[in-house]
Amino acid sequence: MRKFIVAGNWKMNLQKDEASKLVSEIAKNISETENFEVVCIPPFPYLFTAKNEMKESPALLGAQDVSPESKGAFTGEVCAAMLKDAGCKFVVVGHSERRQYHGEQSSILKRKVARILEQGLSLIFCIGETLPIREQGNYKEYVAGQLVEIIEDFNENDAFWNNLVIAYEPVWAIGTGKTATAEQAQEMCEFLREKLKEIKGSKADEISILYGGSVKPENTEELTKQKDIDGFLVGGASLKAESFLSIINNSLDVIKNK
Ligand code: PEP
Repeated sequence: MRKFIVAGNWKMNLQKDEASKLVSEIAKNISETENFEVVCIPPFPYLFTAKNEMKESPALLGAQDVSPESKGAFTGEVCAAMLKDAGCKFVVVGHSERRQYHGEQSSILKRKVARILEQGLSLIFCIGETLPIREQGNYKEYVAGQLVEIIEDFNENDAFWNNLVIAYEPVWAIGTGKTATAEQAQEMCEFLREKLKEIKGSKADEISILYGGSVKPENTEELTKQKDIDGFLVGGASLKAESFLSIINNSLDVIKNK
């Protein structure tokens, strides 16, 4: 059975004391649940602090980015081995903000994925269309293209398939308060699962496909009910323990009957 994952991407927000408080609040209010994972994804400097705060809890740690290099003279970079040392299980790759502000395209994303897999870590691979692409109508092909480009290089790699989590994040819904409707999100997650099935058969049923884009406590229930949505990548609403915990608890309530 595939896992339901609620991951909080803090982006470049919070300071050390706020970071510790947030993780400690989350850690003490969640409990071990089969096939359900909670992931906190703080900025690099707070990874160790966060790991320390979550050590008595089932919460997992993720990183927002990784270097495409494995070590050496690359000022400012952080490599996958360091993320592993810090206690990360997940690394986000291909987030639309990295694509947009840092020009990251599939050639660099593939190198990042390779480094992540070398360290035995899992990836949350983000894909999604911008508003003009949605309005043009060819958004399904566009998003499938982002996925297929990566798969091309890793199709024969079992570690890739065993450590892949996909996050479908329509760019027009990220940080805008404009959520995709449950139907729009389901349509895309189902379409992506079909794509995975064409490529990898029944393995597609094991891969968690998250939705991201203005997820908040109010829309979690409806989104969780959708058959092909296996969790959330949450930005803004992951910065406050109360809203992040509500998202977790609302999802858990629905999953019990899914
Ligand atoms: C994100 O950054 O991945 C995201 C979905 O952000 P928000 O929840 O704030 O839209």
